[in-house]
Amino acid sequence: MKVSHIEHLGIAVKSLEESIPYYENLLGIKCYNVEEVKDQRVKTAFFLVGETKIELLESTDPEGPIGKFLEKKGEGIHHIAFAVASATDALAEAETQGLTLIDKIARKGAEGMNIGFLHPKSTHGVLVEVCSK
Ligand code: ZN
Repeated sequence: MKVSHIEHLGIAVKSLEESIPYYENLLGIKCYNVEEVKDQRVKTAFFLVGETKIELLESTDPEGPIGKFLEKKGEGIHHIAFAVASATDALAEAETQGLTLIDKIARKGAEGMNIGFLHPKSTHGVLVEVCSK
């Protein structure tokens, strides 16, 4: 897989309402987009920090992936997303290398990106997302 840069860091938060002003103050950067991703049962908020974004993730369903994460681990870094030319190709390549995939094929994520996740059990404990435009 050829990664061009870190596209974003995903951070699980309990409340966007509380976290957005905190991050705006911390970074000196305004949140530029808030978007619900129904498929993943989250509401997301984005900050552009150089070429990399911070994606805050608030759960909309306690049984969803972020709801479960918050329940188990509390707030904090949830995943790292690498920008690749094609998420579909990157997932296929990861599979041929024996990595465990959460998504066999890319799906639509926030901001209309094509995304897919690799399972943390095959990535040294880090939930890895690949994404492409
Ligand atoms: Zn993400």
